[in-house]
Amino acid sequence: MDICSWCGRQFPKTRATRKYCTPKCKTNACLGRKPARIRAADVAALYALLESDFASADELLGRLRAILVPESEPLPLVNGRAIIPRMD
Ligand SMILES: [Zn+2]
Repeated sequence: MDICSWCGRQFPKTRATRKYCTPKCKTNACLGRKPARIRAADVAALYALLESDFASADELLGRLRAILVPESEPLPLVNGRAIIPRMD
């Protein structure tokens, strides 16, 4: 018996079903997978980040977001703290 990597159900392990109980679970896992590759330049930026000092955890979070999710809007920082815009 093994545990399905997608739904968590127990299933009898065979050669055809190594990680997932059904082909549907395997498909779901493929669709749900997010690309986890980090560009070499971003890895270098992360190492540089390790050497840096920060005024706050929010500032570190902002720098991490800028490296790993550059398409997202940067959070505005005031005195090193992130300002979360209100919706109203
Ligand atoms: Zn499953």
